[in-house]
Parts: sequence; structure tokens; C-alpha cells
Amino acid sequence: MSCCGWCGTVVTPPISVSRLLTFDTHPDKLCTLCRNKMIVLSSCKRCSECCRIVQEITVCSDCLMWRSLYPKLSSGHTALYAYNERAKDIMTAFKLKGDCELAYLFSDDIRRALKIFPANTCFVPVPSAEESLSIRGFNPVELLLEAAGVNYDKALTASRDTGRQAKKNRKERLRTRQPFTLCPKRSKAIADKPVVIVDDVYTTGRTLYHALEAISPCQPSSLQTFSLFR
Ligand SMILES: [Zn+2]
Ligand SMILES: [Zn+2]
Repeated sequence: MSCCGWCGTVVTPPISVSRLLTFDTHPDKLCTLCRNKMIVLSSCKRCSECCRIVQEITVCSDCLMWRSLYPKLSSGHTALYAYNERAKDIMTAFKLKGDCELAYLFSDDIRRALKIFPANTCFVPVPSAEESLSIRGFNPVELLLEAAGVNYDKALTASRDTGRQAKKNRKERLRTRQPFTLCPKRSKAIADKPVVIVDDVYTTGRTLYHALEAISPCQPSSLQTFSLFR
């Protein structure tokens, strides 16, 4: 017997034929009610670059702005779920209240989603600044990757706090200065390899474009981004 990792309801794992065929018999970590509150972006009409939900499938206005600001950094972005009210509640409990167990809620989803990248891909988590690491005690993105059993490369360091983004409005977020530095020791290790920069939530794109800009001098063979929520 297992319980929903969010609401505590007892979960009886539905064993579907497709899950048996793929030897995927892990029980879902969310109950059906909680699972139904999550909006799976791959089943929505979404921006072909950032996965934002849109009325018509096209490149959204934000992505057009990023293209003009960073013409050489066109990245493909993959996101799994919409950042709706339920997702916000979960991330508040995880990041602000420090409920680390919640990192396991999406570990199967993250592991499956990252398996589609080539085996030699370097997954680079968006770093936390010292200040928020000392307050929170953990980097939420690293914890999500660890829970999913995904090896990662700490190729970026943060000189300033990016975690306070939640308190900023959209204009303030977009004005944020580059907070990331490429770690010289890791630079050679990821050169010529596919790199995927991983964040928990894609909001304006500002953080991930800073990360792309910081990592690009090490000349990875391809450069993409991934977030759990968009
Ligand atoms: Zn539940
Ligand atoms: Zn977009």
C-alpha cells in the first residue's frame, strides 16, 4: 500500500497493459485526483519553443523577443506540466517550506523525460546562490535530479540570488543582470557534448537564457533547456 505524496490518500496502483509492456510497474506517487489536477503540456496546444500554452500552435511573443536578443542561442525547451495553482502549492511546500520529500513526486516523470536525450548528455542544474543555499539548505533543481536518479554536472555557479525571482514582477525579472558564471574546471568536461540546462519552473525565460548565455562559451554540441513546470 502506498499513499499519495501530496494529499496522503491511499493509492492503489493501476497496472495498465502499456505499463506492464514497458516493465514500468512503479505505483504513481500521486493519487488520481491529484494527478488529474496536473496539466500535461504535451497534450496541450503550446508554443513550439517554450511549451507555454497558447491558442494557436506558433512561436509565442516572448520567444520572438528572446530570439531577437539572443539570435545564436535558440534553444529547444521541454517542460512537463503547466505551472497552475496546484503546481504552485507543491513548489511552495517544496522550496519555501523545505518539504524535501516532494522532490520524489515527479521523479518518474523527470527520469522518463530526460531519457530521450543522448546517453552522453550533460544535465546542468540552474545553480542557487550561497545566500539561498544557506537559508534553504538545498538546491531544489539538484534535489529533483537526485530524486530522479539523473547524474548532473554543476557547471554553473550563481554569484547572486536567483531564487528571489518569485518576489519580482515581470519587468523586474526581465531586467535581472547575468547571475551565472561558467565553472572553468567543468568547461572542458562538457565541451562538444549535448548539454541540457535544467530548472524547476520556467517563468519568463530570463533565468534559462542567462544560463544558456553563460554555458555557450564552452561550445557544447547542442544546447537545450528543460523544466518541470512552465
Ligand atoms: Zn492526492
Ligand atoms: Zn514561447
